[in-house]
Amino acid sequence: MPQTRHRIRRPHRTCAYIGLTALALGVTATASAGISGRTHSAAGPRATTVESALAPCRITGTMGVQLSEGLPTPPGYARSTGEVRALNLMIDFPDAKGEGTAADRLAEFFPRTSDWFRTSSYGRLSYQAEAPIRNWLRMPMPFAAYGIERGSPYEPGYRQLVEHIAKAADSEVDFSRYDLINVLVTPNAGPSALDTVLSVTFSGNGEAPMADGVPLANTSFVYSRQDDGSGTYRETGYRVLPHENGHVFGLPDLYTSDGGGTVGHWDIMSEDWGANNDLLGWHKWKLGWLDSTQISCASKSGVSDHVLSPLAVSGGTKLAFVPLSESTGYAVEVRTQAGNDEAVCRPGVLIYKVDSDVDTGRGPVTVSDSASGSGGCTRRPNVHAELSDAPFRPGETFTDEKAGISISVVGELRNGSYQVRVTRP
Ligand SMILES: [Zn+2]
Repeated sequence: MPQTRHRIRRPHRTCAYIGLTALALGVTATASAGISGRTHSAAGPRATTVESALAPCRITGTMGVQLSEGLPTPPGYARSTGEVRALNLMIDFPDAKGEGTAADRLAEFFPRTSDWFRTSSYGRLSYQAEAPIRNWLRMPMPFAAYGIERGSPYEPGYRQLVEHIAKAADSEVDFSRYDLINVLVTPNAGPSALDTVLSVTFSGNGEAPMADGVPLANTSFVYSRQDDGSGTYRETGYRVLPHENGHVFGLPDLYTSDGGGTVGHWDIMSEDWGANNDLLGWHKWKLGWLDSTQISCASKSGVSDHVLSPLAVSGGTKLAFVPLSESTGYAVEVRTQAGNDEAVCRPGVLIYKVDSDVDTGRGPVTVSDSASGSGGCTRRPNVHAELSDAPFRPGETFTDEKAGISISVVGELRNGSYQVRVTRP
């Protein structure tokens, strides 16, 4: 493995002041409530039937879990469907003056971040990136004076920084027009991302400083540059931003203190270095990018068959879910080399356990490896190799003996879909 773990272990803070935010927020009061909004607009007997069939699969969040995989995402986060307006501010400091232009810094992330979201969401998230201030926004204090380090909490350094940003930008920016804020810090402030990743998101923070009558509650900070393994950041270095924005939409980190070994390269919330990758189907459902009709809930005892079309392709059933309890279950989806998934070396059926009781960074999702100990099929840099060949191929079966569950890949159909058979007690 060419990568060193500390390079991808990231100290994101994902402060969620749930409860306060629901009342305090103007700008992000519309939560990414998953499927509910879309489904209700198509209300009718059929929609109602679909909804009730899905109920056992909609595992819920738990009190005390900061960022949960449960449905729906609580209020306070930025909405993740429709037009989402992102304010981009490029900042520098008296002791770290911007090198190159602020517009060049912006161009490291756009339009690719907007494209990434359009592709991953099947066009359901229209990410409008705006940068009303085209120059570096100079902070009043040296970078060092904010005391920002890896893992720094919001208080006091980030609060001060956000206050200074709001003050410096307020005459030219109407903060109430935006759903989220990206602070693109000059890359020469702080350490290289190769040494320490400072990039961080504070989401759902209704107690953040106010500007134009709204709290700056969903704010991503991007530092330094993340190279793609070839020594340049130009190919895929932008991917840190869709990762950070994932937190703004309420998604947890899937890497753990041990690195990307639980989910590998199957979700950008697990690995945002290296080759482009997509989000898990579970996350797409959580974000409202999949309809209820695209989820197949395997909650009844006995045998059920599910035909799943590749996750990266628009339309069709994308996700089968096998609930185990009110907080856990197995998700089943088809991953191929398409869309944002550019490094899939063994296409097939990906099976993973989702646990809404497990918090961000603690392993809320665990991928089942069909070829455990194989070393994987990829040699791409900054891609967790072992899990790269995790998908199950036709004829292979995943078994959870304790729960009495088996998930078999019956075959691949001519149109690229896969037939999956679930057996449960
Ligand atoms: Zn993160």
